[in-house]
Amino acid sequence: MNEIKIFSPATIANISCGFDVLGCCLDSVGDEMVIRKTQEKGLKISKIIGEDLPLDIHKNVAGVAALAFLEKLNKDLDFGFEIEIYKKIKPGSGIGSSAASAAGVVFALNELLNKPFSKLELVEFARKGEELACGQPIADNVAPAIYGGFTLVKDTDPLKIIELPNLDNLYATIIHPLIEIKTADARAILPNKIKLDDAVKQWANVGSLVHALHTQDYNLFASSLTDYIVEPYRSKLIPEFEKVKNNALKEGALGCGISGSGPSIFAFSRGNQIAVNVAGAIKHIYKETNINFNIYISKINSDGLKIIDAK
Ligand code: ADP
Repeated sequence: MNEIKIFSPATIANISCGFDVLGCCLDSVGDEMVIRKTQEKGLKISKIIGEDLPLDIHKNVAGVAALAFLEKLNKDLDFGFEIEIYKKIKPGSGIGSSAASAAGVVFALNELLNKPFSKLELVEFARKGEELACGQPIADNVAPAIYGGFTLVKDTDPLKIIELPNLDNLYATIIHPLIEIKTADARAILPNKIKLDDAVKQWANVGSLVHALHTQDYNLFASSLTDYIVEPYRSKLIPEFEKVKNNALKEGALGCGISGSGPSIFAFSRGNQIAVNVAGAIKHIYKETNINFNIYISKINSDGLKIIDAK
């Protein structure tokens, strides 16, 4: 194989009760990437379409993740690689734009080189890219992109990822108000200490959400999607958050919360029709403001990254 074209999915991290640990993978929202072997040795990003992002491999998360992969491979290859990125996920949207590039490139390299690394090792390389984007080697977006479905970051040092089952008919509606929230601001607004009462409710929810996924229990899943710790602070940074959440729940959504560090808001629904209804019920909220937005509906993707073409 000399060239591979992949779909690199968007992801939802910080799923309500699961701040920094629970993520899931989307299906109809994502970037495309082409990675091909070149006669010239080394690594370069030859093309980025759709967004103004650095071609410099040390400044682009795709380059940094690929370098981590090649360094660990530690082989003197007699060819090099070039990367093309077709960006559809807006950087800073909160649905894993940087993670899609970081996870995508290491997945593609692994395929081109006959899979020398495990999924866990790919997450390790991809999180080096995330470190460039947000200062910390977070894994809660790159893990669901690589494993698919729902993932739990059990530990970061050493890294341990738990693959969780998906609900069989689960859809997400995502609304992305086109405002900028700096990840640093979204972190700075969080308290250093939390109340024990809140912590108890939160970890009960994480446990019951995991159980709900294992037992296909939509009611338990819905009742676990409450965040007592982060959302009360971060939601203040997102205009109309409460209205969006109330309308989504009224329309039958199972739950609604902040995707990543925002500004995107996700709502989960059982089945496509409810997800479509939720989209209809929330988009008029931003239409009544001067805030532009994008809206997406996607099934939760159990497979993660996908090969579109290989030659
Ligand atoms: P998101 O939550 O949508 O991934 P992040 O804040 O994590 O947003 O990442 C966006 C940051 O990463 C931006 O500063 C962007 O310039 C930088 N970046 C570097 N390379 C890429 C890339 N290939 N794709 C997306 N963002 C990138």
